[in-house]
Amino acid sequence: MQIRCESKMKIDVLGGRNEIGGNKVLIEHKGTRILMDFGMSFNTTGMYFSEFLQPRKCDGLKDFFEMGLLPDIKGIYREDYVEHMGRPKEDRSVDALFLSHAHADHAQYIHFLRWDIPIYCTHATKLILQALEETGSGGFKDLVTVCETYKHYINKKGEWSRIDRKHGEYVHDRTFHIMDSCSGTNVGKVKIGSLEIECCLVDHSLPGACGFIIYSDEGNLAYSGDIRFHGYHGEYSHAFVEKVKAANPEWLLMEGTRIKDMHSIGELKVREEISKLVSNNQGLVFVEHPIRDLDRVKSIYDSARDNQRQFAVNLKLAYLIELLGDISPFAIDEVKILVPNKGWGLLCKDGCTDHQISKDYFKWEQDFIHRENAITVRDLVENPQHYVVSMNMWEIKHLIDIQPKGAIWIKSSCEPFTDDMELDEERKSNWLNRFGIPEYHAHASGHASGKEIHQIIRDVRPNHVIPIHTEHPELYQK
Ligand SMILES: [Zn+2]
Ligand SMILES: [Zn+2]
Repeated sequence: MQIRCESKMKIDVLGGRNEIGGNKVLIEHKGTRILMDFGMSFNTTGMYFSEFLQPRKCDGLKDFFEMGLLPDIKGIYREDYVEHMGRPKEDRSVDALFLSHAHADHAQYIHFLRWDIPIYCTHATKLILQALEETGSGGFKDLVTVCETYKHYINKKGEWSRIDRKHGEYVHDRTFHIMDSCSGTNVGKVKIGSLEIECCLVDHSLPGACGFIIYSDEGNLAYSGDIRFHGYHGEYSHAFVEKVKAANPEWLLMEGTRIKDMHSIGELKVREEISKLVSNNQGLVFVEHPIRDLDRVKSIYDSARDNQRQFAVNLKLAYLIELLGDISPFAIDEVKILVPNKGWGLLCKDGCTDHQISKDYFKWEQDFIHRENAITVRDLVENPQHYVVSMNMWEIKHLIDIQPKGAIWIKSSCEPFTDDMELDEERKSNWLNRFGIPEYHAHASGHASGKEIHQIIRDVRPNHVIPIHTEHPELYQK
């Protein structure tokens, strides 16, 4: 969708139109070109690919262009991929990327962008991208740094060897500009060519989420990113709406994930629900939740404390909490770190040295496994009433070792919205049935209700509303 008004502002919604996520917006004004988000579309990806049928990397971007996962735009993609496809060298054609938050549907495809495109985002967003890169798996995780692919060198034996991350000269740091660390009168504002862009924090199910206001001499534009009002920082979203109102925007790019739902359940309510479920149960409590939703993580942590229990987090969450530092609602030594048995399974075996045990773990995991607050499934078996355990489908195998009695499972995440997720849900039910664990639900969405979205539009009164991140653009007409 391309929107050209009498003015020279051009707004090109390259992804996120008529679907939830995959946001990619190109804005052009008097020769200045900026991208807003560069996310993965779950819809398009799910149409053609699955866990075991992934796009190939062997011909650079070919699979992604062919199947409509990425728009073919010159001058934005990383040079190693472009060169490998046999395309002539391209000059950089965008000035910057503005990133609203680090959810995959907004940020995942940064992997494919040129490493010399400056990225503007919040401090928390950058740290989450760093955690995703350092603890993630799979071949598409160059988010904060980029290691050139398809390059080789001649080794000591005179043979052909592939370049990897050990070859520093082929590893590039992306340039990040942190927008919420400025001070003085210019907080969160930056000038790029003919545009001035302001970053405003918003409440969402991920720390560091923000919306943007773009000022130009031919009208202003506001981009909501993903927004809600019912988390622990609803005041951020209210302040954002006030700023947008004051900017009197010509265009409002407004997310509408839940435009059909008229009501929202607040995060405080979720905390109450979880706390009540924990207090009514004597056995282990497992909570399935989005791992990086720190509002939810705080709700679970508080619920555990309400009931004199310890919150046990997995290694990825432990890594993120430590990396986020003050941004996290609690420090890593205020929770327990559940270390899983991996590889040779030496963790709970007597007589194994720390060195032998460490060999089963990735480098980033090794730092956690011998800490004072590290626990194993053995602790959960011996004292189930002491813990609330962060859990997900990929770690459900712990149940085989725990053999829990009187445990409950709280699903504190959204309902499945893809076929793969439906299958996972069914598989999970099979596990829970097999081990006799009842499942309860306590969840609040990361998105504003239809009522709130309409209220924003009524308050802001932009000349043009551009629906994004929604399956129901027709409902904006009201
Ligand atoms: Zn989103
Ligand atoms: Zn989001």
